[in-house]
Amino acid sequence: MTAAEATGRGGARSGAAGDTTRDVVILGSGCAGLTAAIYAARASLKPLLVDGHEAGGQLGLTTDVENYPGFPEGILGPQLIDRMRQQAARFGTDYLGGAATAADLSRRPFRLTVGGHGDVLTRTLIIASGASARLLGLESEKRLLGHGLSTCATCDGFFFRGKEIAVIGGGDSAMEEGTFLTKFAARVTIVHRRDTLRASKIMQERARQNPYIAFVWDSVVEEILGKERVEGIRLRNLRTGRVSETRLDGVFVAIGHIPNTRIFEGQIDLDKAGYIITRDGTRTSVPGVFAAGDCQDHVYRQAVTAAGSGCMAAMDAERFLEAQGH
Ligand code: NAP
Repeated sequence: MTAAEATGRGGARSGAAGDTTRDVVILGSGCAGLTAAIYAARASLKPLLVDGHEAGGQLGLTTDVENYPGFPEGILGPQLIDRMRQQAARFGTDYLGGAATAADLSRRPFRLTVGGHGDVLTRTLIIASGASARLLGLESEKRLLGHGLSTCATCDGFFFRGKEIAVIGGGDSAMEEGTFLTKFAARVTIVHRRDTLRASKIMQERARQNPYIAFVWDSVVEEILGKERVEGIRLRNLRTGRVSETRLDGVFVAIGHIPNTRIFEGQIDLDKAGYIITRDGTRTSVPGVFAAGDCQDHVYRQAVTAAGSGCMAAMDAERFLEAQGH
């Protein structure tokens, strides 16, 4: 392996990762991965953390975080990540920029290929590669994410008190987010590309009976409007071809998530949506491989639950190493 340099906003430059086998390698630099690093580093396991495609994970894409315990005034997502990064560096975590592009989990030590750095060998692996919210693929999404455009109602709903918002999608997530958002918003419009919802009956009914929710059917978002903040959306009706613009303060995209687990397909047990199946804490189907955070959780998906499972994964890895006599 070539020299591994510390990267990112965490600051501490950790130097070469060396070409010896690691005790713990962590994939992913979101809340789960960084918490695993703090615990593994404090257990003197000198973890190597591979940043991944989206350094900082979902929190890196969020603005204010007001529900992470310990920050009564709230904290910016990237700031929270920065602090965790510094905390993990303080106890001896090495950072490696780039993402793992291949993995061989068929024997120990496990072998990972990290783009631009060659191969890394490790006795245990903590996968904290997260899940990426599926987006619509519009250029405006990159500009407006965190500025009126969100993929997480629990995280950002509070900022839309008395506002007009739209939720895009027709599945359980869209119904759940839409219903939740009526606690804050003046009105929620659910925009779906068909005239039949994919959501379960009970979730549909709850949304349909909510007087603050309106539905727009057979429509796709052509553009999210606004330079610095969301100001509206342009919709196209797929049946009539009619294009219309609506003024809005916020847009929540709820069209599903994609777990970042592709390189493990066929090597560890995944559910049909691609999430890693964990048992007995954070254990996967491969002894010595643990999973934490959103890559194994499509239910809670919160920063604090990801951090909790990162802690569990580090403790599980430590116990595994002990049992192996390391
Ligand atoms: P989902 O079930 O895959 O639904 C995604 C929705 O987004 C579908 O209605 C789909 O439209 C729409 N969509 C996908 N790509 C789109 C695009 N490019 N443009 C516009 N619309 C698009 O995803 P989910 O709602 O996140 O749910 C994922 C899983 O978690 C499901 O198994 C769900 O039951 C579960 N879940 C459960 C709960 C709960 O029970 N409390 C809450 C949330 C999620 P089409 O219908 O036309 O394909």
